[in-house]
Amino acid sequence: MSCIFCKIAEHKAPAKIIFEDSDIIVFADFNPRAIVHLLVTPKFHCSRIMDLPDNLTLKIFETVRMITKELKLQDNFKLVLHNGALAGQIVEHLHFHYLSNQPNVDVKFKTVIT
Ligand code: 5GP
Ligand code: ZN
Repeated sequence: MSCIFCKIAEHKAPAKIIFEDSDIIVFADFNPRAIVHLLVTPKFHCSRIMDLPDNLTLKIFETVRMITKELKLQDNFKLVLHNGALAGQIVEHLHFHYLSNQPNVDVKFKTVIT
């Protein structure tokens, strides 16, 4: 499978990873449109939110809250999902954009794959 986000999940493509566990990976978007622009992604490959198992749907939102707490962005971020090409989805592996323009956020990368 030639999915770039699956490759990132397997550490087989470059990425700056801020969080990962067995199910979820959070990494910096390589073309940021905000001071903080992260992609919150299930490691399980699926394209659309309707195809994501319930436990992973819950885990995505738990992860969003966890990174929000860690980055101290409780009052200043937005979450964007492009679900389908007509909605602007380009990468066919489900991902939420996590964006904030708060200055001086201390984003610590746990793993950097070059
Ligand atoms: P969408 O599919 O929601 O329109 O956007 C895909 C996002 O993934 C874009 O913001 C783009 O910059 C980002 N992106 C695409 N390929 C890569 C990649 O290989 N690495 C990283 N870090 N981001 C990527
Ligand atoms: Zn994939």
